[in-house]
Amino acid sequence: MHLSRFPRVHLAHLPTPLELLPNFSKALGGPNIYIKRDDCTGLGTGGNKTRKLEFLIADAVEKKADIVITQGAVQSNHARQTVAAAVKHGMKCEILLENRTESSERDYLESGNVFLDKLFGANVTHFAKDTDMVQAMEDLAEDLRKKGHNPYIIPGGGSNMIGALGYVNCAIETLTQANDMGLQIDHFVTATGSAGTQAGLVVGLEATNSQIPLLGIGVRAPKEKQEENVFKLAEQTAEYMSMPGIVSRDKVIADCNYVGGGYGVPTDSMIEAVTLMARHEAILMDPVYSGKGLAGLIDYVRQGRFDKNDNIVFLHTGGSAALFGYLDAFNFS
Ligand SMILES: *Cc1c(COP(=O)(O)O)cnc(C)c1O
Repeated sequence: MHLSRFPRVHLAHLPTPLELLPNFSKALGGPNIYIKRDDCTGLGTGGNKTRKLEFLIADAVEKKADIVITQGAVQSNHARQTVAAAVKHGMKCEILLENRTESSERDYLESGNVFLDKLFGANVTHFAKDTDMVQAMEDLAEDLRKKGHNPYIIPGGGSNMIGALGYVNCAIETLTQANDMGLQIDHFVTATGSAGTQAGLVVGLEATNSQIPLLGIGVRAPKEKQEENVFKLAEQTAEYMSMPGIVSRDKVIADCNYVGGGYGVPTDSMIEAVTLMARHEAILMDPVYSGKGLAGLIDYVRQGRFDKNDNIVFLHTGGSAALFGYLDAFNFS
């Protein structure tokens, strides 16, 4: 396994820090909780999509694209990082946003990531919930080709085998840091959505024979579907890296009990998790992904599902810009 064999541009500040959360761990009275700060990747307020975009934008550059097209929910962190990456490489960016939560709140529709998308110069188009977004991207690409452009489509969340390489790299990076710190990791926990993050991590953790269990906390799909999506992408990624079959199905675990009312819909446990982290460590989580992921981790600690002396690493996937799209969900008096 040698990632330098794959085309890559450099967009992220790496390595991101791996830090102990002393106050947060103490507040939960449980295991030692460490955080891998992928909210600090640095590109346009950072987040996990930047690692994927290092490989995706490199592919777009190789194919001589002049416009990148991508899609996501209204408060998509992926869309915001994609336009930022496009800016760096002199490409235009078309962003297609699906109103998955059917919100009509101004903050949600215009602030947070949407504001930043426009600030970075993206052309933003809004679509109703349940639009076929893959088809919408294809249609737009066809239009642009007719006008003489060379568009490059980046799938939602940057989740294909090219993007997932960014998280194979993150697994290796985290292991190297842990080795240097003398830290023995007992569990790795991440939020999981479009699957590229978890798929890349599981490939990296298996390829290195780390024997570290990885837990994904789902934010959208039910367990079976989420695990199937992650497993399929992990298999494709492993094959792309010439290591077919290294990930077995039982290594892909997603707990989807913390989704609540649906994708992007606030939950009480998310509000608690985001507030707890802000008030104990001054670290900003997000309402859609890392907040729900952390809510899952907190619940596992309270249920005694980790050992008191375990070392847990939580991947902070970023997304704090979305907080400003969710002002109404937080009831500060
Ligand atoms: C996209 C995203 C995730 C989920 O990553 P996937 O690779 O889509 O599973 C988690 N956290 C944040 C903040 C994200 O933007």
